[in-house]
Amino acid sequence: MSLIVCKFGGSSLADAGMFVRVNRILRSDPARRYIVVSAPGTRFPGDEKITDLFYRAHASDRAGDHSILARIFARYAAIRDALAPDFDLEGEFDRIENELYLSLDYAASRGEYLCAKLFAAYAHMDFVDASELLFFRANGGVDVDATVEAVRRKLLPLGRAVVPGFYGAAHNGGVRTFTRGGSDVSGALLAAALNAELYENWTDVDGLFTADPNLVHQPARNLVVGMDQMEQISKAGAKLLHPLALRPLRGTGIDTLLKNTFSPGSPGTRITERPVPPVRCVTGQPTLYMRGDPAEPESVRLCELPLQGSVTVASVNAFGLTDAQIRRVVREIKPIHIIHMRDYVQIILPEKEYESTIRAVHAILMDADA
Ligand code: ASP
Repeated sequence: MSLIVCKFGGSSLADAGMFVRVNRILRSDPARRYIVVSAPGTRFPGDEKITDLFYRAHASDRAGDHSILARIFARYAAIRDALAPDFDLEGEFDRIENELYLSLDYAASRGEYLCAKLFAAYAHMDFVDASELLFFRANGGVDVDATVEAVRRKLLPLGRAVVPGFYGAAHNGGVRTFTRGGSDVSGALLAAALNAELYENWTDVDGLFTADPNLVHQPARNLVVGMDQMEQISKAGAKLLHPLALRPLRGTGIDTLLKNTFSPGSPGTRITERPVPPVRCVTGQPTLYMRGDPAEPESVRLCELPLQGSVTVASVNAFGLTDAQIRRVVREIKPIHIIHMRDYVQIILPEKEYESTIRAVHAILMDADA
């Protein structure tokens, strides 16, 4: 029977209406049998992610303040009341309140845990806790053998299930999380272990564009990108996928399809290990290095640059610039520095010029006559 693992990000599950959308997407293809969920994300500009609230709840709980937990409860209660009235949210919160002190990772993981449990109740699917499936070693790496064995043993007999992303069992028995955005890694681990035919990663954008559509007017979409390049693009600053998300899929032949929960019919971007031509794209990090921070080796390297005082710099990373286009970037943008990486160029500039530089570099990148 065909098998697709789907991961849904926080904005895809931000409220009851989004739960309904996700369920519709699942039901529209019976192969979408295993789903990994993030914690509810932001619903509107300025809203808070549940994971951020849980991090803060852990700190304020120590000071005896339960008001943040009450706000988290209200977010889940609105979903429960609309979609799964029999779900015992009060019981779950009693337990979480009593155990919140356990660790920061435990607190942070509760966003995904509750989201998965609630979604499973609403969609009438089995819930399987990630701490029974995903195992970390003492050094923070994933114990792949134990994880593959548990995922197959526990999930395959169920046929369909909902699993919380972002965390697993720590080597000492507690809960351990990945770094932020780590549900992408959880989804990939499941897809690899279950030998899925496809890993669908559902977010709130249509895929990989030539630049961030929030910064550049109507960039072009890349329909296919190679796995190596996507990994580099993620490391270079694109927020589409966790930089480690593709690793579990190496050598498996499983493609990742970036899809948009808000427009399920659009084709998205396929990430594949098959040889495909490199894509063009501009990404970056708005505040990359503080000059001379010894904890940041990169910033020490940048100390050698002709920077005055303590300047905060950003990097705009461009894939696919021709030599002529690089010369044009130097001439027209006059960056502080350009570093030639193996597969892309890193354009260093004062942080306040970040957005305008993204737009300027994108214009040069797309200008075939440059
Ligand atoms: N909810 C976590 C975060 O906000 C993990 C994830 O979404 O993948 O980073």
